[in-house]
Amino acid sequence: MVSEMQNSEHSELSNFLKVVNKIESAFRENRELVSIILKKIMEYSKKLEEAYGKEFKFKIMNFCGTHEWTITHFGIRSLVPKNIELVAGPGCPVCVTPSYFIEEAIKLALDGFTIYTYGDTYRLRTVNSVRGYNSLSDVRSDGDVKIVTSFAEAIADARRSGRESVFIGIGFETVAPGYASAIIRGIVPENLKIMSLVKLTPPAMFYTLEILREKPTEPPVMGVIAPGHVSTITGAKAWAVVSENYGIPVVISGFEPIDVLLSILEILKQLVKGEAKTVIEYKRAVTWHGDVRAQRIVAKAFRVVDDAWRGIGFLPESGLRLREEYRKIDAFAEIGVEDLKPDKWVYDLPPGCRCAEVTLGKAKPTDCPLFMRICTPSKPYGPCMVSLEGACAIWARFGSGGLADEIAKDLGLQ
Ligand code: SF4
Repeated sequence: MVSEMQNSEHSELSNFLKVVNKIESAFRENRELVSIILKKIMEYSKKLEEAYGKEFKFKIMNFCGTHEWTITHFGIRSLVPKNIELVAGPGCPVCVTPSYFIEEAIKLALDGFTIYTYGDTYRLRTVNSVRGYNSLSDVRSDGDVKIVTSFAEAIADARRSGRESVFIGIGFETVAPGYASAIIRGIVPENLKIMSLVKLTPPAMFYTLEILREKPTEPPVMGVIAPGHVSTITGAKAWAVVSENYGIPVVISGFEPIDVLLSILEILKQLVKGEAKTVIEYKRAVTWHGDVRAQRIVAKAFRVVDDAWRGIGFLPESGLRLREEYRKIDAFAEIGVEDLKPDKWVYDLPPGCRCAEVTLGKAKPTDCPLFMRICTPSKPYGPCMVSLEGACAIWARFGSGGLADEIAKDLGLQ
């Protein structure tokens, strides 16, 4: 019986993987389609050049670190015309988690709590030393710090050990339903507290657009490639305010190279037509209203707060904290960890690190003099070099070129 069940599960999994591979190849390996899309992109870019002049740069911001990965890994920057500038945005939760919370987690680890953390947060360096330690990885020999891949894993381990523990709950809207579901179902043991550091993405996008608007010397952001994964939960409607208030096109994009190229094409098409709409390219996963059930459980477990973003400061209504009814498992309410308040926030990037400018689309990783000199993936100095969603870490690993360069040469673009 068990073996029958295992066989059926195995075959379901293998069918699922076949479908995933098929979708992946359709959006990754179709050179003919790439060539058609690129020709259209060239056409629109030419029209824009005629309308705005040769020097005008059309800055398109990809909010999400995974889009930055796709763009850099597949060399998409070298494929698009020179008047299109693709810039990274603030979509890396590890990059924007304030140093203060990691410092608090280090204190807790040294005071005998077990700390559960994701692998990238584990390597994140603080600006201030805590009793001689600068990261959770440093403290591992003197404290109990465990790397987990999910909240469920932390729950299971805390139940087994019975030890007083804290889970560092970082992430964007995508992870919040998983946290909320466990909280509401009451499966989090009281010996495990959650330090909820979940951040909401649209407020960061509004802030980024505002500050780039305030500085007329910067080329303005003319279009946004919005995060597909986040939008599976929030729905595309969460981004409509960007196109409505800032008058620029927004495309909710998938993560394969052809998804990103199609999104760039849609933005250029709208710019040529003088439109500013929010459009879903990632139709295989995202709807206009999103996952309403997930939104409900998130609202039941969490309240929205003004929250601090590393190197940037407090952004209105940009974070989630547990509701009062769950205070027994809230690290901020129960074990004396003070939440960060605007009057306590201090600039928290290490000297010379330009991570905040990188996440706000004002600088490229290579503009930082420390890039690949002092700050490298094996020895990250600033937060954007830690996670694979951080622009500096992505640029350090993949640079540019690759398959895209070959296609660009085939098409006579280089
Ligand atoms: S290369 Fe390192 S130091 Fe420079 S901006 Fe990126 S993370 Fe900061």
